[in-house]
This record gives sequence, structure tokens and C-alpha cells, in this order.
Amino acid sequence: MTTAYTTDARFALHDDSSHPEHAGRLEAISRTLTSSGLAERLLPVTPRPATQDELLAVHAPEHLARIEATRGRARGRLEIDTYVTGHSDEIARLAAGSVLALVDTVLGGEAANGLAAVRPPGHHATPTRAMGFCLLNNVAVAARYAQRQHGLGRVAIVDIDVHHGNGTQDIFYSDPSVLFISTHQSPLYPGTGALGETGAGAGQGTTINVPLPPGVGDKGYHAVMERVITPALRRFAPELLFVSVGFDAHWADPLAQMALSLRGYDALMRQLAALAGELCEGRIVVVLEGGYHLGALANGWVNVVRALLDDADCADPLGPAGVGEPEIDSLIDRILNLHHLP
Ligand code: ZN
Repeated sequence: MTTAYTTDARFALHDDSSHPEHAGRLEAISRTLTSSGLAERLLPVTPRPATQDELLAVHAPEHLARIEATRGRARGRLEIDTYVTGHSDEIARLAAGSVLALVDTVLGGEAANGLAAVRPPGHHATPTRAMGFCLLNNVAVAARYAQRQHGLGRVAIVDIDVHHGNGTQDIFYSDPSVLFISTHQSPLYPGTGALGETGAGAGQGTTINVPLPPGVGDKGYHAVMERVITPALRRFAPELLFVSVGFDAHWADPLAQMALSLRGYDALMRQLAALAGELCEGRIVVVLEGGYHLGALANGWVNVVRALLDDADCADPLGPAGVGEPEIDSLIDRILNLHHLP
């Protein structure tokens, strides 16, 4: 089984060292991957910039123009949380395009699955707005590309970043061909992702939100995976599974209050990889979103590499959260009821 991997040193050109979403995040991943000895077992995929047409499949032209207008300018902000440098337009297009190159590799059969270590992240970017450190919605651009370029019908996106993937939700809210499932802390930025947001029109039922109270950890996430995500994916039967993974649901993350451990993350990723094996010939593409504790981020990401390579190992130098979890059984029951899941 071959696992494809894409990243690029140029992502560091989009940087603000005083911001949580800084270039050191991918540097930490790169160091940990190198010291793991796993890098040489991965098939490297050369990034390319996404084309205007590929981006216009999910973003409005005015949105692309606003980012393009920052080319060569001094560092500033597109909105309160989201900085841009003079290189950000180029780098955001490269981040989105590198996931497309990865999709080509997986759907072309050269690799069974793949990971994209990209920045800036994407899941808060809506069709028309940059938001929450995100400029272009990398995973959404890739999902649409898999459909248009490779002729896929049903594509699923599971978002396990601690924040709601509001941009991805917006892009596919009325689209029955893309199943979007998000687990996220609630309340937390950006405030969307309520239980009752289930899609619209023809897309009614293909958005599944799992808003979790602060403090949910390995046990609660495992229950969500077993009882909600697994039956929902089986019912939808995707031809390709994307995972938007953020490591900010780890207990050590400074931006949120969840309690996943690295072992908990590992269990989730292995279950998602197994579901891809069962449902779509193992085709799983994992795209990096958030994660702001560098140790949790880098070790968590390299554990995903191990999971996709089907290595049994899992590194958890940070250990468990060591606190009790809130009960979420009744929340899960409500979600199952709302979505007519068994
Ligand atoms: Zn996040």
C-alpha cells in the first residue's frame, strides 16, 4: 500500500510569528516526520498552484480578487483573525492546488491514500469570505475537483478540527453529492454548526453537525465515531473520503477546551481509514486544518502518516488528558434521531 504526501517549504512565506497560525507549525511537522524515519516510505507529490477555474468552482470571483489585491503588499489583515502577506495569494493557491495534485495521485491509482500538510488552512473560508486564518477552502476545492475532473459522484468530508468547518458547510449546504460531517466544540468560534443545521433543499440531510460540550475526550469522540460518523458514512457510501483534521481538539491546545489525546486521535483516524477501506477502496485524503500546540500537532500528524501506512505504532508523548468527560449519550441520541440513523 502506497501513501502519498504533499507539502512545500514555500508555505512558510505565509507567516506571522506572533499569530497562532504561523510557519513554525509545518516546520514542527517536518522535523517530527524526519526523525520518525517514515518520510522515505511516502510517495512525494509535487505541489502546483490551483487554477482560477478550479478555485471558481467553490469561491466567488470577488473573493479571489480581494486576496489577489494583497499581492506584493505589506502584511495586513483581510478580516480580524486572518492575516495576509505579500505572498499569501500565491501560497494559498499553492496550498489548494497541492491537495488537487494529491487527489490526482490517489484517484490515478499511484497511491492508495494521501496526506496534505498545507497552510494556510481552509475550512473556515466561505464562498465569499476569508475567515478564521483561512483564505481558500482547500478541502472543498479538492472535493469539487474530484467530482469535475475525475467524474466522482458522492464525496464525503469529515471535519475533526475543534472548530466548526463553516466554510465547507456553506459551500456544500444545498448539495446532496457531498456529505459534510463536522465534530466541534460548542460554544466556540465561529459559532455555527448547531445540531439543527442539516443542509437545505436537495442537500437536506447531507450536513451533519456534532456540536460537543467542552471537555469531551477519547471516550466521547469514540462514541461519536461509532454511533454517528460510521453509520452516516456507510449510508452515504462515498467514492472518496476527505478528512479535515485539526489537532486543536487535543487537551493541550491553547485555543480550545477539548480533551482528546494523541491516542484518541489515532483511534479516530484508523477508524476513518478502515471505513475508507470498506466503502471506497481505501481512498482517504487527509488535509491539515488547525492545531496550535506544536507537540500535539506534529506528533498527531505523524501518527496519521502511520495510520495511513497501516503501521501499528502510535506516539503519544503528551499522554492522556487525565480528567473526566461530560456525558454525551443524549446528545448523540438527538443527532441519530434528527438524521434518521439507526
Ligand atoms: Zn480549528
